[in-house]
Amino acid sequence: MKKLNSSHIGNIFYTDLKAKIKKKFFLGDILSKYRKEKKFLLQLLNKLLKREYILPVLNRINIETTSICNLKCGFCAYDKRDLNSHPRTTMSRELFQRSITEASKLGYKRIGLTPTTGDAFMDKGFIEKLEVIEADDIIDSCYFYTNFIPCSESQIESLFSFKKFFLLAISIYGNDEESFCKFTKGNSVGYKKLVSNLNFLSNLLDSKKLHFEIRINQRCKEGFYLSENNNELSRAIKNLAKKDKVAISHTYTHIYDNWGGKVSQEDVKDFGVDLKEGHFRKMGPCTMIFSRLNIGANGTVNACHVRDADYTLKIGNIKEKSLKEILSSKNEKYLEIINAHKSGNLPKVCKSCDVYSSIYEYPGRSDYVFAKTYSDQSINFKEFSAMIDQRKKEIEMKNNV
Ligand code: SF4
Repeated sequence: MKKLNSSHIGNIFYTDLKAKIKKKFFLGDILSKYRKEKKFLLQLLNKLLKREYILPVLNRINIETTSICNLKCGFCAYDKRDLNSHPRTTMSRELFQRSITEASKLGYKRIGLTPTTGDAFMDKGFIEKLEVIEADDIIDSCYFYTNFIPCSESQIESLFSFKKFFLLAISIYGNDEESFCKFTKGNSVGYKKLVSNLNFLSNLLDSKKLHFEIRINQRCKEGFYLSENNNELSRAIKNLAKKDKVAISHTYTHIYDNWGGKVSQEDVKDFGVDLKEGHFRKMGPCTMIFSRLNIGANGTVNACHVRDADYTLKIGNIKEKSLKEILSSKNEKYLEIINAHKSGNLPKVCKSCDVYSSIYEYPGRSDYVFAKTYSDQSINFKEFSAMIDQRKKEIEMKNNV
């Protein structure tokens, strides 16, 4: 982190100018179509050349400390989840400790604490869970997303004491009080708390040195430009971002995805946002089933943390089996999902998913963004199979002894 972050607020005038030019000349749709076609052709080429890029498998696993959120955003799957398939609950400290121990034994180094849905601060024991990570000898880093509303000032301040914490991603829904309330089905109390927490963090940075990144991701109405706006939320964001031009970044968008088919135009009508419809043409397995695994708040292990809010890709539960066994070729259910992806007969959620990422696509810089401190290497399918076969062998050897 040496030079001005390219998404820093200092670049906002140019970011907005680019967005306005794209809008005026309808370039957004043309560029998006061009990029999709190019992507597809490159994937096809890689497939023919047998080049596979599974994102580094052991760099990250996700643990859902809670599946509960304080907001009910229209463009999120949270409020539309099948609660019979995955309940609203919070992970106990004991189960969290077990998850960390088993993940670190398998060699995982980094923990994502907010997979899929749920806000970390809705877990009243969240800070104690950060202490569990801090005390582990193998896990070396963690990060999480939050809407930054259900946290107290003392919780915000305590983040500065966790050395393994490397990224605070703040998701802001709306660009003013009206759009916040409309998007989130929230109220002005939540909106004011958000502004107040942003200002608190901003003031804190006058006396505390940041050792972690802050990424502010704002979801806005189309036609909103931060560079031209000065309401209390915009001021709070700009003030915070000014405190560190390297470690703090800001992005905003009015474009949303369909959450694996769970969100439709009807859910966002009158929001003034665009739902990105129409799926990418899909080519081969999605890398997420290998390298973006998730342990849910009730112990369910799911083969994707990204968009499967109903946990339809569940492959076991760590209350019943070890993580090692669940993530080994001993697990028929996991093999079934992998084979479905390999054969092109994708599970329902994957068929509709807009976030699909082919193993035939050479990963861009942003795919490594959460793993940039490691000497990362994508692996191919053969190497992945060898890894899960080895786990199976070790389990069977142990059982035979
Ligand atoms: S296609 Fe979507 S839901 Fe399926 S594994 Fe990939 S990211 Fe997850």
